[in-house]
Amino acid sequence: MDKAAALARRLAAGEALTDGELLTLLEQRTVESAEILRAAAVETARKTFGNRVYLRGLIEFTNYCKNDCYYCGIRRSNRKAERYRLSPEVILACCDAGYDLGFRTFVLQGGEDGWWTDDKLCNLLTAIKKTHPDCAVTLSIGERSRESYAALKQAGADRYLLRHETANDAHYAHLHPPELRLEHRIRCLYDLKELGYQVGAGMMVGSPGQTLSNLVEDLRFLQELQPHMVGMGPFLRHRDTPFANEPDGSADLTLYLLSMVRLLLPKVLLPATTALGTALEGGRERGILHGANVVMPNLSPADVRSKYLLYHDKLATGAESANGLNQLRTNLQAIGYEAVVARGDAPTL
Ligand code: SAH
Repeated sequence: MDKAAALARRLAAGEALTDGELLTLLEQRTVESAEILRAAAVETARKTFGNRVYLRGLIEFTNYCKNDCYYCGIRRSNRKAERYRLSPEVILACCDAGYDLGFRTFVLQGGEDGWWTDDKLCNLLTAIKKTHPDCAVTLSIGERSRESYAALKQAGADRYLLRHETANDAHYAHLHPPELRLEHRIRCLYDLKELGYQVGAGMMVGSPGQTLSNLVEDLRFLQELQPHMVGMGPFLRHRDTPFANEPDGSADLTLYLLSMVRLLLPKVLLPATTALGTALEGGRERGILHGANVVMPNLSPADVRSKYLLYHDKLATGAESANGLNQLRTNLQAIGYEAVVARGDAPTL
């Protein structure tokens, strides 16, 4: 048996590996080690979630952003991005339509858009919760003050996605302009946790300058933070960013890491992301078969989807129609899973 396969077996058996061993597991990845991790990750997910897959309705409600992250297609310096902002009425209509399709979680994601003040966001949250008190609302709108997070929580936000992007300072500085600091992003994650949010962190796989050691640091950071959710997808280049000519991240390595995360954080909510679905035919299903247990179809109105372009050729899978969602349900059924109508809160850790 190869070295990585032996390490995979130990991780699968619940043994704690050293940093060096995790690195070897990544460096010497083989078909065999991948299959050992995959099978164990699926088994682990089944213990907590059975064959249930949670659905989240993703609403990309603004692509205005004051930040200038080098990898991101909606960075402020991208003059070619056609900017849009959904009105509260349109967002509420998306939630209503999503509710009728069976969604019980709405994820409001966007750039860091100054138009959306705490007041406006709180009013929106109050309105969503009033119409759909049985639904969870997840925010994914970047770094804000602790006071702001507290007010949004008070107004009804349940969860918050804020990927840490990379846990290595030098790598963080390679991906972001100097005004953005890893330390601050991590502070935000701890603030969110302390305020009682279910919190999601995560990283891109194969982002420019990333080493396999950086990924070990990411795994260690996740173990330390103990988030309720981990969002992880391959880096995919966007032509109008400084990283236009960088290679895309590997879908296979992403799948491998999904399995590792499932084994290191057995009860975490782990989406098979849009980026994975874009990078790989059947990527969402492949993600589920590597230990993921969440999918987040797009509920944004059709006319704005092509504008929320974080990277090239972004998939905008049509779950907006009953047809699209039925297709997803059928695909999941075909691999032995069931998309459920439920809030799908994080199990107690
Ligand atoms: N403004 C919010 C939401 C950002 S978009 C925030 O700061 O959290 C959500 C995620 O998309 C980012 O956290 C990043 O990890 C991912 N993303 C951005 N550009 C990407 C790219 N080119 N390839 C793959 N993922 C990307």
